[in-house]
Amino acid sequence: MWFALTGTPGTGKTSVAETLRERGRTVIDLNIIVKDHGFVIGRDEERDTDVADLDKVSRFLEKEHGDVKDIVLEGHWAHKLQVVRAIVLRCDPKVLARRLKGRDYKKAKIDENCEAEMLDVILVEAVEALGERNVSEIDTTRKGKRAVTDAVERVLNGDFNNYKVGSVDWSGQLLKGRRP
Ligand code: ADP
Ligand code: MN
Repeated sequence: MWFALTGTPGTGKTSVAETLRERGRTVIDLNIIVKDHGFVIGRDEERDTDVADLDKVSRFLEKEHGDVKDIVLEGHWAHKLQVVRAIVLRCDPKVLARRLKGRDYKKAKIDENCEAEMLDVILVEAVEALGERNVSEIDTTRKGKRAVTDAVERVLNGDFNNYKVGSVDWSGQLLKGRRP
C-alpha cells in the first residue's frame, strides 16, 4: 500500500521521512525521483516548484518498489498519487514562518506558504482526491521530530481516530491578519 506524507513546505515532511527510514520504513522522496529520472513536465510558478508527470512517477514506483508491502511517498503532491491514505503534516503559520526563515526562503515565498497553510490548501486537495476518511492530519507545531514520527507511525499502523480531518484550524489567524 502507498501512503502519502504531505503538507505545506516547512511542516517537517523530510525530517519525518529521515526518522521513519531510521526505523526501517521505506520512504521515497518524490522530488528526488522526479529530478533523477526527468519526470518534470512543467513549472508551478505560484509554488516555485516543478510539476511532475504523475503517470510516469506511478509507473516508476510500481516497477521499482512494487514488491514492498508499505511505502511512504514524501512530497507536497504525494496525495495526488494512488495512495490509500494521506497523512498531512500541519504547522501553526506563525511557527511555520520561523521554520521557513531558518531555511533561507525569500519573504514572498514564506508568506505564500503560510497563507496556503492557513487556507488548508494541501488538506483540501487531499480530501478532494481521497475522501475525508482517508486523510489524517497531524499538528507538528509543538511536537519534536520524534513525536511527529511517532504520530505518523500510529497512523500507518491504523490509528485514524486521533488524527481526523478538522482537528487543525488556523482560520482565526486569517481574520486577525486581514481585518484593520
Ligand atoms: P518539509 O520537508 O516539509 O519542507 P523539513 O523537514 O525540511 O520540512 O523541515 C523544515 C524546517 O523545519 C527544517 O529546518 C527542520 O529542521 C524544521 N523542523 C522540521 N520538523 C520540525 C519539528 N517537528 N519541530 C521543529 N522544527 C522542525
Ligand atoms: Mn522537504
